[in-house]
Amino acid sequence: MTKKYDVLVVGGGPGGTPVAMALAAAQRRVLLVERGAGLGGTCLFEGCIPSKILYESAQRLRAIRRAAEFGLCLSPGEPHIDWQAIVARKDAVLRQRAQWALDRAQTIPALDVRFGAVALLNQRRALLKPASGEPYEVEFASAIIATGSKSVRPAVLGSGLARMITSEQVFDLEYLPRSLVVVGAGPVGVELSQIFAAFGVRVTLLEAGLSILGQVDEEIARMLEVRMLHQGVSLVLDARVTRICHAGGGAFVQYRDTAGAAHEAYGEYVLEVTGREACTEELGLENTAVRYDRHGIRVNHVLETDEPGLYAVGDVVGQPMFAHWASAQSLVLAHYLLGQPVRFPEPAVNAAVIFSIPEIGIAGLTEGEARKAGHEIEVVRYDFSVDARAQVAGHADGLLKVVYERGTHRVLGVHALGEGIASIMGEAALAVGAGITMEALALIIHPHPTLSESFALAAHLVPTSVFIP
Ligand SMILES: Cc1cc2nc3c(=O)[nH]c(=O)nc-3n(C[C@H](O)[C@H](O)[C@H](O)COP(=O)(O)OP(=O)(O)OC[C@H]3O[C@@H](n4cnc5c(N)ncnc54)[C@H](O)[C@@H]3O)c2cc1C
Repeated sequence: MTKKYDVLVVGGGPGGTPVAMALAAAQRRVLLVERGAGLGGTCLFEGCIPSKILYESAQRLRAIRRAAEFGLCLSPGEPHIDWQAIVARKDAVLRQRAQWALDRAQTIPALDVRFGAVALLNQRRALLKPASGEPYEVEFASAIIATGSKSVRPAVLGSGLARMITSEQVFDLEYLPRSLVVVGAGPVGVELSQIFAAFGVRVTLLEAGLSILGQVDEEIARMLEVRMLHQGVSLVLDARVTRICHAGGGAFVQYRDTAGAAHEAYGEYVLEVTGREACTEELGLENTAVRYDRHGIRVNHVLETDEPGLYAVGDVVGQPMFAHWASAQSLVLAHYLLGQPVRFPEPAVNAAVIFSIPEIGIAGLTEGEARKAGHEIEVVRYDFSVDARAQVAGHADGLLKVVYERGTHRVLGVHALGEGIASIMGEAALAVGAGITMEALALIIHPHPTLSESFALAAHLVPTSVFIP
């Protein structure tokens, strides 16, 4: 017998789950199909959460190493790293969050969560192959594809050898390697290089481009490069990998620079983090009018594909690929499908944190992006070396840049590098999203001594940013 639903949602990550829950809460009969073992997607099982759990361990280790500076005398000697305990803690948090996500979903009677694979037969029917039991057909009025993305495996000679891993495997390594070659200095490559370097792993980070973190404010990316080198990460720019071969319980990565000179780096493991591609395989998209390539499914301004009634959200529609972006799209799509007035998220007001050491915060447009978009801009810079909170915390290092429009003084972008700045990027997102002016920012009372004060202090540096009586 064919089961009938109002909406089919494929993928239970940050893109699929919120829309499924919101529609079901509004009494739409929703089928949410997830091919993995739990709800949470890449974010929970292979991305944001496991990487931040490792990051927390790395940051605590760094703090312990500096204990004496703060007048704390620990027993002499280097702290011991128990990799298995770190992995076990990670697994416990993941289990807890996955259970919580499932429990929440199951409180909504109109939401039917199934684990298994689904393939579209046409624009209104699909075949569901549950993890256990017989396959059966389902019918739906509309569908939302939220199948996310996966690591790109570069077509390099030797790629795919046993010692080569991606972010899908790195959080479950059986032991902490002594050396690691990371290929690709995007956010994931940078974060993991610094985490493993903090654990004492000899890390070589190879990047084909001439700087790390291509989309980040150039000055801030350069500042981080210097700090990475100080932390012991062997960062090599202009390094095009040509071949990888196994040797002595690890692998040699051969690479060339633009002048053609050949070099090599050795690691017990080689972590390939050279990008992500949309998960569109085995979905039956060829049975519909949906158009897609490896960068993503094509959608219009309301996230509808070329097949009317079929929508797509999150990583599967391409950049930007962030969990909060996927969830924001997902919730707005739910309201749109419920006939409510909505504004779909725009990349110009997106915010993100790269959990490098120290963190990089991004909200809105960089100087270059703002100019390209036709804005006349000014930039104000606040140096964390003079910041009270940063000095107290022993991290008086870093930079906050606020990009604002020349005539209106509207905040267009906030870009920062500094320990702890992740916690203030919500305010940066608010300033950009609400389009507030530097004067308004200067007038908001920020608690002292906190890093959030840096916004007000930066705004006070604007010549006309005076107190309005
Ligand atoms: C190492 C790493 C660290 C990251 N750190 C951060 C971070 O700190 N902050 C941040 O915002 N973002 C981070 N991201 C990105 C973030 O994980 C993604 O942007 C986010 O998970 C995208 O959500 P999504 O729902 O679109 O896709 P996903 O989370 O990938 O979810 C898609 C789901 O669909 C399921 N699926 C796929 N195909 C099918 C099918 N045919 N049938 C049924 N189900 C299917 C998958 O099993 C998966 O559960 C990180 C990513 C990585 C790899």
